[in-house]
Amino acid sequence: MQPAPIQRLVTELGKLPGIGARTAQRLAFHVLRSSDEEALALADAIREVKARIGLCEVCFNLADGPRCRICQDERRDPELICVVEEPQDVIPIERTHEFRGRYHVLGGALSPIDGIDPEDLKIGELYARVEDGEVREVVLATNPTTTGEATALHVAEGLRGRAPDVAVTRLASGLPVGADLEYADEVTLGKALSGRRAL
Ligand SMILES: [Zn+2]
Repeated sequence: MQPAPIQRLVTELGKLPGIGARTAQRLAFHVLRSSDEEALALADAIREVKARIGLCEVCFNLADGPRCRICQDERRDPELICVVEEPQDVIPIERTHEFRGRYHVLGGALSPIDGIDPEDLKIGELYARVEDGEVREVVLATNPTTTGEATALHVAEGLRGRAPDVAVTRLASGLPVGADLEYADEVTLGKALSGRRAL
């Protein structure tokens, strides 16, 4: 049995995704071997990210102030909104350099079995943004999974009823079905973006 503080670190590290018991143990020993400075830098980075990062008041992407960098960037086209499930989905789309509009992060996908209903996502906020005025096109870039597709259809229908003049498009096929956007390479994702189709 190892000392309680080490056990605690192993337990906490083991809660991270993709980290099994053995890796947690290895990481804990790595931290123990590191200098005080190095180990505390990790602890401080975790503390800082929790203290300073919140959600953008406009698009619900991650932000270190009231608005994210993309919403603050005047050069980004406000008439074009790309809807994604999670903040991490913004990153691969940005990497393609194909998209010059703004984003809207739903905070998940519809999944009635898991109790995730429209009210649990930022869908109402999206409708309000679109109804507010200047939007010309909404690109639905939810994941090509069952829940992502269901979410895209739900949002498309909601938008058609509220803002019939706004074009609603979906990423072109070619994305691996069932996979998360996060893992798509930028060439495939870039093609899916430029070849998006009306929904
Ligand atoms: Zn934003």
